[in-house]
Amino acid sequence: MHPKKLPQDVNPKGVFACNELDLKEVQVYGFDYDYTLACYKPSMDYLLYNLGRDMLIKKYKYPEGIGNLEYRENFAVRGLHYDFEKGLLLKLDSFLQIQLGAVYRGLHPVPDDEVLRMYKNRIIPIAYVEAPPKHSNDGVRRTKMIQLADLFSVPEMGLLCNVTEYFLRNHIDYHPEILFRDVKNSVQSCHPIMHQLVVENVSEYLEQNKDLRRFFGRLRKADKKMFLVTNSPFHFVNKGMQFLVGENWKDYFDVVIVQARKPRFFTEESRPLRIYDEVKQTQLWDRVTKLDKGVIYLEGTVKQLQDMTGWRGHQVLYFGDHPYSDLADVTLEHGWRTGAIIKELTHEIETLNDQKFKENANWLQMLTGVIEEHQDYEGPEVQDELDEWMKERDELRNEIKSVFNKQFGSVFRTYHNPTYFSRRLFRFADIYMSSITNLLEYSTSHTFYPRRGVMPHEYTSYFV
Ligand SMILES: [Mg+2]
Repeated sequence: MHPKKLPQDVNPKGVFACNELDLKEVQVYGFDYDYTLACYKPSMDYLLYNLGRDMLIKKYKYPEGIGNLEYRENFAVRGLHYDFEKGLLLKLDSFLQIQLGAVYRGLHPVPDDEVLRMYKNRIIPIAYVEAPPKHSNDGVRRTKMIQLADLFSVPEMGLLCNVTEYFLRNHIDYHPEILFRDVKNSVQSCHPIMHQLVVENVSEYLEQNKDLRRFFGRLRKADKKMFLVTNSPFHFVNKGMQFLVGENWKDYFDVVIVQARKPRFFTEESRPLRIYDEVKQTQLWDRVTKLDKGVIYLEGTVKQLQDMTGWRGHQVLYFGDHPYSDLADVTLEHGWRTGAIIKELTHEIETLNDQKFKENANWLQMLTGVIEEHQDYEGPEVQDELDEWMKERDELRNEIKSVFNKQFGSVFRTYHNPTYFSRRLFRFADIYMSSITNLLEYSTSHTFYPRRGVMPHEYTSYFV
């Protein structure tokens, strides 16, 4: 067998299209702040982990011993599900199949036969994972899993697994759902402290991006409107934007809304917009009837933003890092175009471009082809050969998985299928990229064309 020619490298600064998008039609660029414009260093994960861990002891009276548990970088990845009935962290694919080998209790993988015994199936019923649509809610909660789709939830998962491990090792009985809620509430209640610490030492936590100012300047020059809608408070965003773009960052924006409480900002019918007074550092009670440049607003709803600006539908392109709370409603309900910023793409593309990875992926595909072709041959010597090949295939699959992340593999793929996270991302994002400033590689009138995906019945007839 001759190996095929290996594929070219993927551009880590590329912008990838799920749907055709003509930037000439886009008049308004909207942005989320955290992990969209502002990317954090790993020190942010350590900070949130440490604050949350200490809060568990102080406020929730968890055992002092967990104070010694250190954050493990690169343990969890975004997009995993936590089963709060069984206390497991696991990865699902787009068909709701469990990725065996990527199911963890505490810091240890659960053996495949135990997973299959617990779930009785490789496929999880949809009611476990997704709540029924809003209007058909009969009030009964059937979901048993929660997806952690936010980058701020990565240190939460780390804490959850460390504390679980501590309880298991010390034979302490615990309830996984209570533990989950306590960890989540602890870490999230520390966000105001985190904001303050970042404001005091912004370069310790925030990654500088020199291209951001150039990117904004180019949008301005092309006469595009710009707005910011973030859940974070003004003092925190202000400090970060000054660090990233400069003292005059607000000059670039036509509208700035902070403490927006997404996703409710996009779903609620009415909640008044308020004005934030920068000098007094407080919100005002005045009625807001128009949106002025240079004024900071808080709360409100997307309806008011649209009504007061006239910005609607496909002329708006909104960027966020959270496929659900940033992108789902604006695309499904309001017809905005959407861009996802997925920081993990940098590492994922580096891995795809690695020579060894390419060779392994290529060999895996060929080996699978050979197995597929020979499986129906009979006779013991063929079976022995097939068993050997299957064994080699399993080893290769695990190797390919673990180069992305040792425990959970790629954010985007389970062995051959897209992950649950990918499916949602591709559904809600027209384009996606590792960093917002990757757009500098394209003009402001560029059209992104999706690749014509090949369907299973087209493989031999189509130009792959
Ligand atoms: Mg964000």
